[in-house]
This record gives sequence, structure tokens and C-alpha cells, in this order.
Amino acid sequence: MEFEALALLSHISKCSNLNYLMRMKKLITVMTLAAVITGATLALADEATKVKPYPLKTCLVSGEKLGEGGMTPYVFTNDLQEIKLCCKGCLKDFKKEQAKHLKKLDEQARKEAK
Ligand SMILES: [Zn+2]
Repeated sequence: MEFEALALLSHISKCSNLNYLMRMKKLITVMTLAAVITGATLALADEATKVKPYPLKTCLVSGEKLGEGGMTPYVFTNDLQEIKLCCKGCLKDFKKEQAKHLKKLDEQARKEAK
């Protein structure tokens, strides 16, 4: 009787679902952890690549209203900051004095926020 119980026990632990279940549980834990880490990394990456929208309605270089006179605004992203210019021609001027224009953008954005 005792022997039978022992044999049964060893049988259970050898090929059993118990073992399988525990392995699955471990696997699920690992997978959940991986998913959480991946999710967090993605959220972080998302945060890091979020582009700030251009806050002004005027060209950063010329100060003209965007889309005025049938011109197509030139939109690009500079260092996660969206920049809109009244035309592509202003891009040259922007690049020439990038720091100055970015400072201007900052100042004007603050003024518009008020
Ligand atoms: Zn322009």
C-alpha cells in the first residue's frame, strides 16, 4: 500500500501536469515580465521621440502668416521641435541662424501662451 502510494507520487512528479504547469507558470511570468519591460521601453521611447508641435501661426523666419498668398508652408522637424516656415526658401535663413530662430520661437511661444 505504501509502496503503491510512493510509486504513484513519483509517477506524478515525473511526467505530471504539475511539473508542466509549474514550467508554464514560470514561462508566463517571464513572458509577462518581458511584456512589461517592452511596454515600458516603448513608452519611454515614445516619450523621447515626441515632437513638440509648432506653436506659432507665422513663419519663424519671415514672420509672415503661414499659408498666406497661396504659399505652401514648409514643415520640418528640428530636434523634436516642429518648425513651420512660410516657404522652403526660408529654410536657408533658418539654418544660417538656427540658434537665433529657435530662441525667437521660444520667446514667441511664451508670448502666445499668455
Ligand atoms: Zn518664407
